[in-house]
Amino acid sequence: MHFQKSVDTTSREEMIAFLSGHFRYDTMRAWNKCQSYALNVKVHRLGLSTEQCSKAYDILQVEGLWESLNECIHEFEQEHEGRFTICSNGRSSGYLVLLQSEYRLTGHQSYCRSCYQRNFKLCALNDNRCGRCGADGEKGRVNYQTPPKELVTHHAGIDEDADFDEWSLEQLQDRVKLVDGFDKACDQVRERFIDLLSEEIVEETFYVPQKRMVLKSA
Ligand SMILES: [Zn+2]
Ligand SMILES: [Zn+2]
Repeated sequence: MHFQKSVDTTSREEMIAFLSGHFRYDTMRAWNKCQSYALNVKVHRLGLSTEQCSKAYDILQVEGLWESLNECIHEFEQEHEGRFTICSNGRSSGYLVLLQSEYRLTGHQSYCRSCYQRNFKLCALNDNRCGRCGADGEKGRVNYQTPPKELVTHHAGIDEDADFDEWSLEQLQDRVKLVDGFDKACDQVRERFIDLLSEEIVEETFYVPQKRMVLKSA
């Protein structure tokens, strides 16, 4: 554990000290003045060895890095049924911030089985031609069994003017559980990042005349 702290959840004082002493950062841009619980995840704050550090700067340029680290955050979102998420913010995404969120239906009713284009209308068996790629019949559009959802993030601050002395023990425990879970998820992101440092970075040249780095398991 690098970020996670142990907090005695039977002690009001300890919980209040944890919550009010936790690092905070802007939820969006500095000008909108909203802040929430956050952690500094800049490379030099991750407790890496010198060797890991220099490799870390290389790996930050790797394509798909964030998707790979995001798995830990998706787990956190699921644990909270989408009511909270973790986003990066700050110049060079050096901070992870706890934000409120919610699942919303995207409104799509069907999708194309050939090109995966989503459609806001339902389709019928004999009327399912894809407007984009022209596929129909068994390759054409099909209605969703479960309408797709997306996670919408809110940038309101969390506990900005909270007077924790007024909170009940249970309210404090719930909040500590949330923030502790945030710290834990950030630890998992850090561990995943460190795992990636032990993988080999190869340069691949694609037919587009530009180099991109991809990860290759060692
Ligand atoms: Zn605010
Ligand atoms: Zn299509």
